[in-house]
Amino acid sequence: MDRNSHHQFSTKAIHGGYDPKEHKDSLTPPIYQTSTFTFSTLEQGAKRFSGEEEGYVYSRLSNPTVAVLEERIAQLEDGEAALAFSSGMAAVSAALIGLTKSNDHILCSKGIYGCTFGLLQLLKNKYHIEYSFSDLSTTEEICSQIKENTACIYIETPINPTMRLIDLEKVTAIANEKGVKVVVDNTFSTPYLQKPISLGCDLVIHSGTKYIGGHGDVVAGVVVGSHDLIKTLKGTVQKDIGGVIAPFDAWLLLRGIKTLAVRMDRHSENAEKIALSLKKHSKIKNVYYPGDSDHPDYHIMKKQMRNGGGLLSFEIKGTYEDTVRFVNHLKLIPIAVSLGDAETLIQHPASMTHSVIPDEVRIKMGITNQLLRLSVGLEAWEDIWEDINTALKAI
Ligand SMILES: *Cc1c(COP(=O)(O)O)cnc(C)c1O
Repeated sequence: MDRNSHHQFSTKAIHGGYDPKEHKDSLTPPIYQTSTFTFSTLEQGAKRFSGEEEGYVYSRLSNPTVAVLEERIAQLEDGEAALAFSSGMAAVSAALIGLTKSNDHILCSKGIYGCTFGLLQLLKNKYHIEYSFSDLSTTEEICSQIKENTACIYIETPINPTMRLIDLEKVTAIANEKGVKVVVDNTFSTPYLQKPISLGCDLVIHSGTKYIGGHGDVVAGVVVGSHDLIKTLKGTVQKDIGGVIAPFDAWLLLRGIKTLAVRMDRHSENAEKIALSLKKHSKIKNVYYPGDSDHPDYHIMKKQMRNGGGLLSFEIKGTYEDTVRFVNHLKLIPIAVSLGDAETLIQHPASMTHSVIPDEVRIKMGITNQLLRLSVGLEAWEDIWEDINTALKAI
């Protein structure tokens, strides 16, 4: 389906970027499991290399299955082009390496994915690229944090695991004026819930491992943006660093994306019901869910997201030992990091995803020893709630 078609999100998620006629009438995109492509003549090979003739050369440069995925996700994010990677971190690192040079500065939202933080430290230690954090909440704050050498603003919203939000229009209005690129890791929201490019952002990143794949069976990443930015990332970063996605993994993402809208509706509905039930429970101290009208950033959610999404965090009213007891009494819900799968997953940020943060800093961020993060799955919500409610009785 052509990118200019009038069709809606759910339709584009199924047909976008694919025409069966171009692939021997195959209903689903074929998996082009090949490392290289043949040329009819030496002259044709030369033309493919010089770019004079369009066509495939070698699967690190491009592959037909991967190309369908890239076009589909670009359409869903309202971007001009996309580039798929072997993991979310390959996508994050390509974007940050592509946008910066030595002595530049990256301004980050307070709270970013742990390995993204690790990458920033690596860039600082090896290439003198500095970084700083800001809550990016007010115009004054954003203006004062942008420096002469700021190359980009790197944002996650919702922020993991506190679920605070950042007003993307507010940030991009200032950044666009100052010529600073805005990059959004949209993994938690997916384009179905939030479209950063249409709000003025330059690049969108996904860990395709999460909601885009949606079935907990693939590790992958994507970057979406303008033709120019994607061309730069493809030609100067991905080609030479090489974190490309395998054709089969691209196919798994294409299959996952077909049901993205349906899944996100169900994830969100379930999460909202679980959040409300947790809020009423006497053994729960705090619930952090952007779709809850008492959430401090509910107005931002209403402005830039379709709904509150499938992730929430909550704090047990009690000790760390009570928290352990509760989690260990869950029967249906597996204890695992990652998110966006059909299965509801629970994890303990203080000892898992956020364990590298020094204790005092972590507690100040609101990540207490009693905080748990839930990726609400696609099961019947009553069964998810029954599991939680029963396990809470163990406290
Ligand atoms: C998981 C995740 C990543 C990293 O993605 P991988 O596919 O695990 O490399 C980056 N950002 C966010 C928000 C994530 O949840």
